[in-house]
Amino acid sequence: MIFDYSEHTQHMINRVRRFMDEYIYPNEQLYEEQLRSTGELWYEPPILEELKAEAKKQNLWNLFLPESDGGAGLTNLEYAPLAEEMGKVLWASEVFNCSAPDTGNMEVLERYGTDEQKERWLKPLLAGEIRSAFLMTEPDVASSDARNISTSIVRDGDEYIINGRKWWSSGVYNPRCNIWIVMGKTDPDAPTYTQQSMILVEPDTSGVEFVRHLPVMGYDDSPHGHGEIAFDNVRVPAANMLLGEGRGFEIAQGRLGPGRIHHCMRTIGVAERVLGMMCQRLTERKAFGQVLSDMTLWQQRVGEARIKINQARLLTLDAAHKMDTIGNKAARAEIAMIKVAAPRMACEIIDMAIQAFGGAGIAPDFNLPYYYAQIRTLRLADGPDEVHNRTIARLEFKKHM
Ligand SMILES: Cc1cc2nc3c(=O)[nH]c(=O)nc-3n(C[C@H](O)[C@H](O)[C@H](O)COP(=O)(O)OP(=O)(O)OC[C@H]3O[C@@H](n4cnc5c(N)ncnc54)[C@H](O)[C@@H]3O)c2cc1C
Repeated sequence: MIFDYSEHTQHMINRVRRFMDEYIYPNEQLYEEQLRSTGELWYEPPILEELKAEAKKQNLWNLFLPESDGGAGLTNLEYAPLAEEMGKVLWASEVFNCSAPDTGNMEVLERYGTDEQKERWLKPLLAGEIRSAFLMTEPDVASSDARNISTSIVRDGDEYIINGRKWWSSGVYNPRCNIWIVMGKTDPDAPTYTQQSMILVEPDTSGVEFVRHLPVMGYDDSPHGHGEIAFDNVRVPAANMLLGEGRGFEIAQGRLGPGRIHHCMRTIGVAERVLGMMCQRLTERKAFGQVLSDMTLWQQRVGEARIKINQARLLTLDAAHKMDTIGNKAARAEIAMIKVAAPRMACEIIDMAIQAFGGAGIAPDFNLPYYYAQIRTLRLADGPDEVHNRTIARLEFKKHM
């Protein structure tokens, strides 16, 4: 399979690159300064809104969505290189309204939401006015097996009552995070895959408790943050149910394919940027009378890094192509493969870069520790490597039975 970019895709890549060059890279420092300027942890840098307005004006907005849903009408294969460009700066995808977990949540609302739910939450999400969170993982059960999720959602007249505890709920501390998709059990006695449901909850509902903030390897991940959330007899209108009782797994299947591949595409962008930084550093530093880039050892490492990035990119494009042509379900092995391969590759390259930079690699100056922390979490978030390898292995064994 040859993945030549079409004229249209190349045009879009150029536009996103130009935007990154003109608006994102020059504002990286300002973003960091504004983020810490008030001492308030969840303060959103005002530059973010300014850049969002510019991206919207340039029609570089909701690029992940089909045209009929108000997006750019790109296939996964066409969107992949754009997400890679955005991934080079960890907060940039939000500028284009293409960030996690909102892209996945918007797709859920678009596909499964009622007209009322769409009007109330999808519309402002598509406009970039609010943000959202996806609450599945629970501290008390092994959540990589979603069948274990035990938060209860019980019907009571025209309401549902929610009880349980979630954690690693990404984005809940963002002041603009106004809607959560919560997964729980509506019927523990139903067949395994129809016990779970997904329901929409507004964070200011009575009975919702923000238990604690969870830093990522010491990083606060401001202005979004990850939280542990307790639900104590939280009542929401019955109209907040998504798709219907017992349809939670069905929604999860639909949601996770695109969400996973978007993460991988951005991760390849991180790896590219870090490799570029590493090459520059290696050509600038001299040790033992030799420029580091002239040392065979570093040439070998850089060669390996290039091979690994290209391998991961091709695997990701293959998954994107399969999702576009045979559908997310049939492409589940390819999606699982890139979910394992891309973060692992990027972790290796960031680690290599830390070594190349010496002490500066560990200092905050080049952001390498933060890149590492962010990418390392992707070997867990959306399911740990082992679970994806299990999917691949099962399909592989089936072929030989
Ligand atoms: C930064 C970050 C952000 C996150 N954001 C969100 C979010 O927004 N919403 C949300 O709901 N969750 C989120 N998560 C949670 C994440 O999806 C879970 O941590 C992940 O699915 C694993 O679940 P668990 O932590 O319960 O681990 P467990 O299920 O307890 O698994 C622990 C370990 O057991 C091993 N294991 C599990 N199954 C197998 C197997 N079949 N074979 C071999 N070994 C196995 C793996 O090594 C695994 O890491 C986030 C996590 C992080 C770190």
